[in-house]
Amino acid sequence: MAYPPNLVIIDLSALAHNFKVLKDLVSPGTRIMGIVKSDAYGHGSISVSRSLVEHGVDRLGVAHLSEALELRRSGIGVPVVILCGIKTRDDAAAVIENRFIPVLFDTEKAKMLGEESARRGVTLQVQVKVDTGMGRLGIPVSELGDALRSVTAHRSLTVEGLTSHFSSADEEGREFTELQIRTFKSAVELGRQMGLDLRVNNLANSAGIAGYRDSHFDMVRPGILLYGGQPSPSRSSLLNLKPVMEFKGEVLQVREMPDQTPISYGRTYCTKGRQKIAVTSAGYGDGLPWSLSNRGKALIRGIRANVVGRVCMNMTMVDVTSLPDVRPGDEVVFLGSQKGQTITGDDMAKMAQTISYDIFCSLGQRNRKKTVP
Ligand SMILES: *Cc1c(COP(=O)(O)O)cnc(C)c1O
Repeated sequence: MAYPPNLVIIDLSALAHNFKVLKDLVSPGTRIMGIVKSDAYGHGSISVSRSLVEHGVDRLGVAHLSEALELRRSGIGVPVVILCGIKTRDDAAAVIENRFIPVLFDTEKAKMLGEESARRGVTLQVQVKVDTGMGRLGIPVSELGDALRSVTAHRSLTVEGLTSHFSSADEEGREFTELQIRTFKSAVELGRQMGLDLRVNNLANSAGIAGYRDSHFDMVRPGILLYGGQPSPSRSSLLNLKPVMEFKGEVLQVREMPDQTPISYGRTYCTKGRQKIAVTSAGYGDGLPWSLSNRGKALIRGIRANVVGRVCMNMTMVDVTSLPDVRPGDEVVFLGSQKGQTITGDDMAKMAQTISYDIFCSLGQRNRKKTVP
């Protein structure tokens, strides 16, 4: 069996550490829903979910029903919330059979779920999504009263809580987030005035958890902090989190290039004097951002070496002029640590002008993975 030269390594002890940091940060009564959508941000949803369950996570959150079903098939029994809702009557049946908790944002799906659960003589817990300023899924607060009346008209549905999402909690300015928190509070009050027993209200993503205590409500929904990333690469954190993902490849060839030799597609880099160039084994086809062209770094023999020229599909050139004995087969760390040097997801995100979420998803979903306890 031939393996590709590149490997994503997932450190579950770092995940457990990060979970504990968050657990200690929130009040004892606040539930934690670990967000494991998109294959746990590329980290592997089954192994990540198992580890979170083992360490006491209350719930898991996924985008789609298919992801929730995959968790159940792997024997994961905790409540799973489906953040992007459901589509068909068959979906409704699967939700009810598996006791998933769907997020509702329109009355049509409420009807589907209500009728289907009534037919089976069961009650189903649901969350109702309010748009407090994200401008994505949700019911505007002005229409919430009517929406809640039509959901609760189905006696087989129990609204266990309201949910909403922050748009800007990772940014410097606090005003808009504080407005979202106030709007959410008023939505919860409205629901309670209607006589609903709302016990699992939730608003905070990672940025909310870290930056806004009064956004925690009854449950928090961390994603990126569990994986050791920051909500925004430009913000640093006081939380002592550990990176969970590493991405390593190797040197394929080392070449001595004369002065003025163009490197890679488009000849966007030319050697300045004699330079030693390592051709490495990963490119954008392996999940490295193309935007690392001429701006990225990679660790070779403990040195932070510069990416030179454009990132190719499966190769990237790195300047190793200062390294005396680099050889083909040497380890290249694109993400992670080597001899005391580290490139974090946020370092890479900054260089690539993206966010660590994007880095983790693309590396994790494209590479062979090794998960270590
Ligand atoms: C993805 C997501 C989260 C987690 O966001 P992070 O910034 O990774 O903490 C929380 N809630 C919802 C609705 C999401 O879609």
